[in-house]
Amino acid sequence: MTVDSKKSLAGLGRAELAAELALLGAEPFRARQLWHWIYHRGATDFAAMSSLARGFREVLAARYTLDRPSIAAAQTSRDGTRKWLLRLADGHEVETVHIPEEDRGTLCVSSQVGCTLTCRFCHTGTQRLVRNLGAAEIVGQVMLARDALGEWPSSKDERELTNIVLMGMGEPLYNFDNVAAAMKIVMDPEGLAISRRKITLSTAGVVPMIARCGAEIGVNLAISLHAVRDDVRDVLVPLNKKYPLAALLEACRNYPGSSNARRITFEYVMLKGVNDSPAEARELVRLLKGIPAKVNLIPFNPWPGAPYECASDAAIAAFSDIVFAAGYSAPVRTPRGRDILAACGQLKSASVKSRASRLPVPAAL
Ligand code: SF4
Repeated sequence: MTVDSKKSLAGLGRAELAAELALLGAEPFRARQLWHWIYHRGATDFAAMSSLARGFREVLAARYTLDRPSIAAAQTSRDGTRKWLLRLADGHEVETVHIPEEDRGTLCVSSQVGCTLTCRFCHTGTQRLVRNLGAAEIVGQVMLARDALGEWPSSKDERELTNIVLMGMGEPLYNFDNVAAAMKIVMDPEGLAISRRKITLSTAGVVPMIARCGAEIGVNLAISLHAVRDDVRDVLVPLNKKYPLAALLEACRNYPGSSNARRITFEYVMLKGVNDSPAEARELVRLLKGIPAKVNLIPFNPWPGAPYECASDAAIAAFSDIVFAAGYSAPVRTPRGRDILAACGQLKSASVKSRASRLPVPAAL
């Protein structure tokens, strides 16, 4: 069996792993052992799995790999932010970003090649959707980052990768089944063990999927809001025409598991002369009434050909003061990785839709 035709076990869920091993006639406990080696120890070679019989390791190596997506390019920003351009098995590419901070290290994970949506302030929005990522390709970003950060076995302490945000390329709620399967692997305490409280899914507002997200994976929710009037948001986030502000905020009011201790994050990119006025800050406060909320103000990160400018520091500060004064935390996000186009809204790969990629996600990915 050629390497290319071998399936990777890295990225499979518990049931899929057990099903693969059943094909080999292996005892069910073998799946638990493999789970430990793949997701707790980060093994990339079956030969290293010393608790498995040598013969069984050889059988596994003959049929499977432990491959993650490969690194096509790696960049490190002056501020320590790291960006990886990943090449997938079918040649398409996505980006993943690690942002180290004093008290945490956040991995920004992609869920699609390109994006279903076309938010006007976002670089990814200029890249047509090529395809959804499979669960293994989403998990593969976490495993690859762990490899690069040298964070195996997956201890709970002293980690550089503590949090995950599904804020990379793509709209995760338009690929929910794969995203949910991937997050269940990532959250498993006997493997990668990243708690749902350390995972945030950001959506542009796919209203019908918000409740399901809360019920099925229960991660933190972030909303790509960026405007407080429908006519402005229709332009910045065209999905708003389908799910306007009133419906979106109602879905947030009912998000399972949100509370004052687990607030929903409203992301607001600051665009000069578009959405940065004090009146809009006051309207934001009015709209958030009754929602356990916090606001993240994002100075716009320019990208080649972008149709907007960042709001002035004074306008951003005034906006933040108004929201803070109303009792909501509204910190201004420090742009990270701008020098390597790794900041919010700057991600894009060269992948374009081709005949081949019109096919659904191949079962193995
Ligand atoms: S902001 Fe998110 S949903 Fe909108 S185009 Fe960019 S990646 Fe897609």
